[in-house]
Amino acid sequence: MQVIRDKTGWIEVICGPMFSGKSEELIRRIRRAEIARQRLQIFKHAIDARYDSTSIVSHNHQSLPSVAIEHSQDILRLVDDKAEIVAIDEGQFFDDGLVSVCNRLANLGKRVTVAGLDLDYRGLPFGPMPSLMAAAEYVTKQLAICMVCGNPANFTQRLTANRDQIVVGAQGTYEARCRRHFEPPTETDNTDDTTVSRQRDEDTTVTEDIPDR
Ligand code: ADP
Repeated sequence: MQVIRDKTGWIEVICGPMFSGKSEELIRRIRRAEIARQRLQIFKHAIDARYDSTSIVSHNHQSLPSVAIEHSQDILRLVDDKAEIVAIDEGQFFDDGLVSVCNRLANLGKRVTVAGLDLDYRGLPFGPMPSLMAAAEYVTKQLAICMVCGNPANFTQRLTANRDQIVVGAQGTYEARCRRHFEPPTETDNTDDTTVSRQRDEDTTVTEDIPDR
C-alpha cells in the first residue's frame, strides 16, 4: 500500500445515540470533500445492506453510495491507494480490528472518518467505538433530542423486548432519550450478544447468527 507523501493522516470519529445526526454529519463532511475534488471511498457495515441498499442513509433521507462489508480487514483489501479520505459508517458493528485498520490508514496519510453509536441499547460501550475514540485525533459527540422531555439525549432507548445486542431498526424500534428518561434493561433480563435481528416494523422480526469473526 502506498504512503501519501507529505500528508499527515488522522482519525476522526462522529459518535452519539441514534437520531443524533451522525450520518447527516458524515454525509456533510463527504460532500465538502467531493466539492474539493478529494478522492474518497465510503464503506458501511453489511448488516444493513443485506436488507436495504448499499448506500449510507440518514434518517432525514439523505444518502450516498457506499461499499458494504462485513469485516474490518475488507477495508484494507478494498481501499484504493489513491484515496485521500476513507469514510466508514456504522462503526459499532465492526470487529475490534477496526482500530488497527483505521490507524494503518491514517499512518499512510489518509483522513479516516468513522461514524457510529458509542453506546448500545443498554447504555454500554458499543464494539470498537470506545477504543477508536481513544485512538482518534478528533471526536465529535452528537446528541439527539429526548423524545420524552426535549432535553439533550445521549441514549438510545429500545422500545421492544428483544435482548440481542444488535437489532437493526429505526423509528418504532428505538427512540432518543436523555439520562433521566433512559430506561436500560434490568440485570435479570436475558442478554444474548450472539445474535443480530432486524425489526422491520412492530410485527416482523428476522433473527440470524452473526458470522464468525
Ligand atoms: P444518526 O445517524 O445519528 O442515527 P441521522 O443523521 O440518520 O442520525 O438522522 C438525524 C435526523 O433524525 C435528524 O435531522 C431528524 O430529522 C431526525 N430525528 C428523529 N428523531 C430525532 C430526535 N429525537 N432528535 C433529533 N433528531 C431526530
